[in-house]
Amino acid sequence: MINSHPRLRWRVLVRTGSTGKLDPSKPARPLSWHLVTCADTGLATAHCAEGRRLLASADDPSGHCLLEGVCPRCGLTS
Ligand SMILES: [Zn+2]
Ligand SMILES: [Zn+2]
Repeated sequence: MINSHPRLRWRVLVRTGSTGKLDPSKPARPLSWHLVTCADTGLATAHCAEGRRLLASADDPSGHCLLEGVCPRCGLTS
């Protein structure tokens, strides 16, 4: 019953413009994945290096959110 890695939960944000319509000039992928524990879905420092890179390029960190300073997806440990 002991599990050192609690099951991760994710949330997906659907990003819409102010008009609610997709901007044809933007990539047709208005979804961004974050951990439910993500401190701030728009804050680069709440994500690992890979997450920051993805945030900057596609606005979707693909769940690379830091959880207590660790990115569960990368498995980064101190
Ligand atoms: Zn996040
Ligand atoms: Zn990561």
